Amino acid sequence: MTWLELGDDAPFDAWTLPYGVFSTAGEAPRVGVAVGSWVLDLAPLAGAELFAQPTLNPFLAAGRPAWDAVRGRLLELVTEEAHRTSVEPHLVPAADVRPHLPFEVADYVDFYASQTHAENVGRLFRPDNPALPAAWRHLPIGYHGRAGTVVVSGTPVVRPSGLRRGGGADAAPAFGPSLKLDIEAEAGFVVGTPSPLGSRVPVGAFEDHVFGMVLVNDWSARDIQSFEYVPLGPFLGKSFATSVSPWVVPLAALAHARVSPPPRSPEPAAYLADAEPWGLDVSLEVEWNGTVVSRPPVRELYWTAAQQLAHLTVNGASLRTGDLYASGTVSGPRPGGSGCFLELTWNGAEPITLADGSARAFLEDGDTVTIRATAPGPAGARLRLGEVTGTVHPTP
Ligand code: CA
Repeated sequence: MTWLELGDDAPFDAWTLPYGVFSTAGEAPRVGVAVGSWVLDLAPLAGAELFAQPTLNPFLAAGRPAWDAVRGRLLELVTEEAHRTSVEPHLVPAADVRPHLPFEVADYVDFYASQTHAENVGRLFRPDNPALPAAWRHLPIGYHGRAGTVVVSGTPVVRPSGLRRGGGADAAPAFGPSLKLDIEAEAGFVVGTPSPLGSRVPVGAFEDHVFGMVLVNDWSARDIQSFEYVPLGPFLGKSFATSVSPWVVPLAALAHARVSPPPRSPEPAAYLADAEPWGLDVSLEVEWNGTVVSRPPVRELYWTAAQQLAHLTVNGASLRTGDLYASGTVSGPRPGGSGCFLELTWNGAEPITLADGSARAFLEDGDTVTIRATAPGPAGARLRLGEVTGTVHPTP
């Protein structure tokens, strides 16, 4: 219930209230909240100290009491007619706004939490070994990514170059632009409250440390990745760009999306035991040049974001405000649930046809991929959780 006239096509309703950083012509970047087809300029309404800022980091660092207080106030402002005259002057049309990277990324970690994805990649890359790595059911496998190449939605993605396997068993590796450029549709989580070096963050403290969720496209060059990654994991095949959505959805807005995670066997170690259900019934949608090609289900992830955070810190590694960690490719049964084109087209063996009649196995220059998400909201509503998009530019 809101006094704002949102319309059925509004990108965000009056409950989700995601935070981002925006600028208008001639003005400095500052914090806003997306509602309907507007961006609410927060500094005049909620204080310059936290919101007349070029990143969300000061607000992220303020911690859960501040996050809850500001969200409570925002819900009042957009639902109570009495606030209309004081709020309306601070609504900026979203069409006039340039979004910026919403937070300064401290560290970036990427997990591998989808069993379907891990098994499919195992079959494709390591056909002579068990599909799941030995540790996979015991802990959320992950690696440290490159924080400095996390970019906001809309940033061009330049096709990377690197070494890939040569043809034939004895052939020398070949250098050049990647021939297997791919996406990975993921759910990302943004850390607000830091933790000291030498301490652990238990599963049950997830909500005290994590502010919210972003949509992630972890662009991946499969030919570079498959040549370089043994035994230390992904490096240049992943580090050239990771796109995130400009609007960070607060965890509080996802209260109606929480579900029990899938059953685990064997029982995880005590430090990974679920304290509360943190599966999330978030549905992703992957659109390739305007054709929806898959709908990956976040609720099927084997390891929850709360378990990923506990694992990330169980050795005493500290958290910093602005840390980003992502789920890894979200994949359900293929082809309709695949979160990457490696799985969707089975490494190119089963190309798909887009609405314009063209066939695709991997990304071509000029291709645009947009990942969107929805989730259950209050009173049976379906929340829109924003989008992350990017277009492939040729290797210079
Ligand atoms: Ca990934």
